[in-house]
Amino acid sequence: METKQAMSPAEEERMIEEAFQDVLDGYLKSNHRKKVEIIERAFRFAKEAHKGIRRRSGEPYILHPIAVAKIASQEIGLGSTSICAALLHDVVEDTDYTVEDIEQHFGKKIAQLVEGLTKISGGIFGDKASLQAENFRKLLLTMSEDIRVVLIKMADRLHNMRTLGSMAPNKQYKIAGETLYIYAPLAHRLGLFAIKTELEDLSFKYEHPAAYARIAEQIRESEARRAAVYSDFSAPIKEKLDEMGLVYDAKARLKSVYSIWNKMETKHVPFKEVYDLYAMRIVFDCDDQSKEKAICWAIYSAITDIYKLHPDRTRDWIAVPKANGYQALHLTVMGPDGNWVEVQIRSRRMDEIAEKGFAAHWKYKIGESDEESELNVWLRTIKDILDNPEPSAIDFLDTLKLNLFASEIVVFTPKGELLTLPSGATVLDVAFALHSELGIHCIAGKVNHKLVPLSHKLSSGDQVEVLTSKSQQPQPEWESFLITAKAKTRLRQALRKNRQPVVAEGRRLLAEWLETHDIPDNNAVISKLQGTFHVPNREELCYQIGAQEIVLGEFLVKGLKKQAESQSSGIFSKLLKFNRKSPSKESDNTDEPSPRQEINTKETYELHSDENGSNYKIAECCCPIPGDEVMGFIDDNGEVVVHALNCPRAQVLKAGFGPRIVATRWERVSGKSLAHVRIEGIDRHGILQELIQMISTNMVIDIRKLDIEAHDEVFECDLWVRVGDVGVVSSLCDKVKTIDGVQSAARIH
Ligand code: MN
Repeated sequence: METKQAMSPAEEERMIEEAFQDVLDGYLKSNHRKKVEIIERAFRFAKEAHKGIRRRSGEPYILHPIAVAKIASQEIGLGSTSICAALLHDVVEDTDYTVEDIEQHFGKKIAQLVEGLTKISGGIFGDKASLQAENFRKLLLTMSEDIRVVLIKMADRLHNMRTLGSMAPNKQYKIAGETLYIYAPLAHRLGLFAIKTELEDLSFKYEHPAAYARIAEQIRESEARRAAVYSDFSAPIKEKLDEMGLVYDAKARLKSVYSIWNKMETKHVPFKEVYDLYAMRIVFDCDDQSKEKAICWAIYSAITDIYKLHPDRTRDWIAVPKANGYQALHLTVMGPDGNWVEVQIRSRRMDEIAEKGFAAHWKYKIGESDEESELNVWLRTIKDILDNPEPSAIDFLDTLKLNLFASEIVVFTPKGELLTLPSGATVLDVAFALHSELGIHCIAGKVNHKLVPLSHKLSSGDQVEVLTSKSQQPQPEWESFLITAKAKTRLRQALRKNRQPVVAEGRRLLAEWLETHDIPDNNAVISKLQGTFHVPNREELCYQIGAQEIVLGEFLVKGLKKQAESQSSGIFSKLLKFNRKSPSKESDNTDEPSPRQEINTKETYELHSDENGSNYKIAECCCPIPGDEVMGFIDDNGEVVVHALNCPRAQVLKAGFGPRIVATRWERVSGKSLAHVRIEGIDRHGILQELIQMISTNMVIDIRKLDIEAHDEVFECDLWVRVGDVGVVSSLCDKVKTIDGVQSAARIH
């Protein structure tokens, strides 16, 4: 390639014209309408615009857009609009021409595609992570407007990867990483299998040159042996297919260098074990699409007459195409050498879809009312997310990256409907996938008729039933086990929606209360309230008032009035925000702990709490609740930390810090504490609803968290409830034990 620099201008000119003619020839052989004139014009325009510019390799720049147009046309199967956009894709970016110029010469559609390509030309990894995400988002936004932008971008990326050798080494690494991280998974999602494989191999070659060379060498060495094994295996099959009168191609499917390496790395197996597992692909011609399925199964039957079938490795991607449109029939049989061999059976049409992906769908589309492809569903999901933008662009990138990388699972609804989900998806993902309302009110699921918690991870082939309850409310913790971006977005929306009326109610109550007591609504007053109740901002304050977690009482009035008068000093009110531990109005510098000597360790310390706070802290290790046998430990801040008497940490404290231990007694304690209860029993239909009904409706106990696990017929339920004291917990346990099927119910310490 280096010799190009030595070419004469005339030779170069001829090479450019030949390269373009090659694009045109390929296009003329395709099924597209023949719009040669506009393609010619686009070529002349681009050639003129890039005139005199060279790539780093020394070749004329125009050869790059020509190559991209060729890939778009011949490897992806796009038509004249895309070919023009590909030829012009770097004109706006690299020359003085504008999008308006393009529109004037080539019309709106081509100009829009070029604009989209220019916008995403910066690459995904900028200097700042959030910018990367923003860019990626733009890329997808544009993509959902017109998928061709992304397809041409793929062609651009593929050509850059093919010519990566002439790039500066630091750029090589960046581009290769980006390709593996974003473009290869995207190509896979778009069904561009051949391009995905090539992108992976090329990235791998630049990122791990030594490993690439080693595997490539091993492939060469084992070529002859492998060819012999394949020919032994395929000969009787071919004979049978000939007898059946089929026109077909049969070949050994070669594993890519990258996929071999990937398997060696992830499965920790040597080259021989990966490479020896080869596959055969049969592609047959068939003019009548309605007969394809029957022919696939006829071939299947012929092969299983010859070789022994692996009982559970048949994959019917015809009845259930993959999300990216892939269709084929796969089976695995025992070869003559005792190795399992995968055979893929496809019609010519299916093969084109597998290799060229999305674009091939257009070619075979019958009529206008063709069913919406699975890919469109995916694109719509992305649009869904984009239509409801979340504040954090980074989150968006993360969820999306997850979706692009995850392999997929297929699950069934009780009605036999199929859902494609990323692997790791949970029951709650399914609920949200079916309907937002189902997600919001989901309490558990039945997977293959067994009761499972919301967070249960699904496997391919699971039958999933979603159980709901009207009283169920969406919980923020759910987000931790949701996998799909759609479910996460919908959960966040529901949480926000649930919160808004409560905040509004709180705002109203607060305003009313302030007015009644003639207290002005100013920063000093609100800061003071925030400090008293330990809430970070006004919204949270209103929320807690609205939810009646905070009750505004008379005891607040005096302090607030005083506070309101000091409003004039802005700094003072700021200080208060930080000193919220101190409810006292006199202390300006309240960082000092209240003096320890105030607590007389010889006397029993009375534990008090009310709406205004408490004179103790609950130890996080054992979380005692009022009524438990407890003891106090005076911590470094002079505060009494309450431990359960039997808490292991308390034993250590008693031994080491005797003088700081104080006897305590629950006295005048109000408010709620969290208690953990475990219920075990025999699973039966409806038992969960009964449990929840009894606790939440009959006993009016607030359930904060619920975890259910079912193994075979037995279930275990972990419950976190908010209670006033231990008495409530024991009556809860007693009541729950009366439910048919419940074996035990006890508090967990
Ligand atoms: Mn380019």
